[in-house]
Amino acid sequence: MLIKGLVIKEYVVGEGDKYITLFTKEIGKIQVYATRAKQHQNGLSASTQLFVYGQFNISKTKNTYRVASVEIIEMFHSIREDILTLSYASYIMEFLLEVTREGEKYHELLNLSLHTLWALSKKIISPKIIKHIFELRALKYLGFMPELTKCVICYADFCETNEKIRFSLEEGGIICGKCQITTPYYITNSVHYMMQYVLATPLKSLYCFEISNKVAKDFIYIIRRYTVYYVETDFKTAHFIQKLEEML
Ligand SMILES: [Zn+2]
Repeated sequence: MLIKGLVIKEYVVGEGDKYITLFTKEIGKIQVYATRAKQHQNGLSASTQLFVYGQFNISKTKNTYRVASVEIIEMFHSIREDILTLSYASYIMEFLLEVTREGEKYHELLNLSLHTLWALSKKIISPKIIKHIFELRALKYLGFMPELTKCVICYADFCETNEKIRFSLEEGGIICGKCQITTPYYITNSVHYMMQYVLATPLKSLYCFEISNKVAKDFIYIIRRYTVYYVETDFKTAHFIQKLEEML
């Protein structure tokens, strides 16, 4: 059968065979066996690498998928040009691996991931801001979209003022001035607008905008906490990125 998918994990087994995890449009996340994929005369070496998006010709015997051939659609080559971009792209792959389950389809999340790899490879904005935009949009698709248009407790419509807006991780949204919560975060109107933009804009314009360093910093601050709260996974690549950024 022919399926379109993104290689989100690869690992060598035995003499040079490979297992890859494919994040596919048609059947979600699957494990696929690629025989002799480490041998270069075999075309599968390059086409089963991490970040390859392609059309995979696979067969299924018993419970094992095997790849016969691949037609590469995009390899996102320039992701590998610098270690920081590569690390952020690897984080996106680890995120997908952790938050998805086999047997479920994630069409929108796959599209988002492809747009994100494209944005990282083109370096149109900083990889750090790309990561956090990706997370917020991904959380929407995973069922954790924050409520930003009305108070998440009393449902009163949001009214813009000059004051900062209270935001609750636990409740998953903004809180009006009348409702009580113990540990709110405070977000600016600009961050509030930015979050709404990220949740609603078409994917093709998701990474095409300009923001000040201050708004970017505040946005990253709240999204980092929001993601940790809802995903609860200790990402190895995130630790690596943190160490790397401390050195740069
Ligand atoms: Zn309220």
